[in-house]
Amino acid sequence: MQHYPVFFNTRAARIILSGGGEAALAKLRLLMKTEANLHVFAPDAAPEIIDWANAGALTLHRRALKAEDVAGAALVYAADEDEARDSQTATLAHSARVLLNIVDNLEGSDFITPAIVDRDPVTIAIGTEGAAPVLARQIKADLEARLPSSLGALARIGKAFRHAADTLPMGRARRAFWSEYYTKTGPASISKGEAATKAALDTLLAQHVAEAPAEGHVVFAGAGPGDPELLTLKARRALHEADVVIYDRLVSPAILELARREALMLSAGKEGFGAAMSQADINALIVKHASAGAQVLRLKGGDPAVFARLDEEIEACEAHDIAFSIIPGITAASASAAALGQSLTKRGRNTEARLVTGHDMQGYADQDWKSLARAGEVAAIYMGKRAARFIQGRLLMHGAAANTPVSLVENASLPNQRIVATTLGQLPSALAEAALTGPALTLLGLAPRDAVVPTLKQEVAQ
Ligand code: SAH
Repeated sequence: MQHYPVFFNTRAARIILSGGGEAALAKLRLLMKTEANLHVFAPDAAPEIIDWANAGALTLHRRALKAEDVAGAALVYAADEDEARDSQTATLAHSARVLLNIVDNLEGSDFITPAIVDRDPVTIAIGTEGAAPVLARQIKADLEARLPSSLGALARIGKAFRHAADTLPMGRARRAFWSEYYTKTGPASISKGEAATKAALDTLLAQHVAEAPAEGHVVFAGAGPGDPELLTLKARRALHEADVVIYDRLVSPAILELARREALMLSAGKEGFGAAMSQADINALIVKHASAGAQVLRLKGGDPAVFARLDEEIEACEAHDIAFSIIPGITAASASAAALGQSLTKRGRNTEARLVTGHDMQGYADQDWKSLARAGEVAAIYMGKRAARFIQGRLLMHGAAANTPVSLVENASLPNQRIVATTLGQLPSALAEAALTGPALTLLGLAPRDAVVPTLKQEVAQ
């Protein structure tokens, strides 16, 4: 983001524009909507500019811009459409340290004016850093069509009512009130006029004040394997509604970006081995915020019900009588199998696929090795990197073939996804060689489908 969007207060600001032709007219049409003191410098001004000056909308100076004109100005527009003149304006603005825009000259400008959808006081600015003006216009047209022209009036009435609405508790209760006004009550009453809309707002507020204060609630949601597009629509909505988001280390930053700006974002910082924050502390954190009436989103990588200590957190909620719900997510096993181009179960090969963990609270986890060692078995081994040698030893001891395919998928679904295709016999050495640093899932009994293999070869060749 080279150009940072801000909304600039134009009240009592002096804005200078040099130029009197088409480019000047285009800029002035927008600038006249502001509350700035507009000064136009043009020896030859278009008739419209003269009319606007006569009507008192701006001050016209029928001469070229001079240094003293620029001193103390807030913004300067170079709109002469003449390189030499614009460059003179630029020199004057720079020596007076005033922000400058040269029409149609992105590189020479300190700031640019975005495409605007105007439903004052609702103003939407669209910028593409000069990359795609056509796209900006298309987005503008889409928004113009989508936003009712009454939006501005609704927002103005709403703004005047903000103080009254402050009687509602901050956060969810207040948001619910405003959301109902902007989506239902407002649009329904605005056609009957401003007074009717204000009366409807009064009634709506009385209703909301009478309602019992919202109770805290916890949503346990899966964030999927990392790709934001693998988030469920429900998880996305929960992210948008949460007051507090408590997330694990595996949840990718691109997903956290989807939370509301005002939401309190708390990292539970759990590591694969041990925990930066103890489970008891996480439970206490969830309970603390939910008891205070917040909508808490407990966001976990993959599916919240797969090796994620969900039950302990649910029990903490139950112990404090806190309502909760669960939103499933795409678990690492599904994303990793997809990366291999394989399915987890296949007719004639395996009638079950197991989700197992490489280690548990006591250390390396014990499994039913005998059945896992059978030909054709498929198991997704979570947290299996450190336990690789142990798992290999147990499986070989129980009769598994050394050439049983084993695939490791690191950072499944993310741009830095890597696949290591090996065999049970080679597993520890392949792991050591690959030096995986991200979360990795071990798929016992699955090799990447041939169609996936060429890309692996390419990676090795690089
Ligand atoms: N609830 C999670 C699992 C948490 S246990 C889920 O359903 O996926 C953490 C383990 O999950 C990691 O050690 C790793 O084995 C696996 N894992 C999680 N995200 C992964 C990803 N994007 N790619 C590969 N493995 C992943």
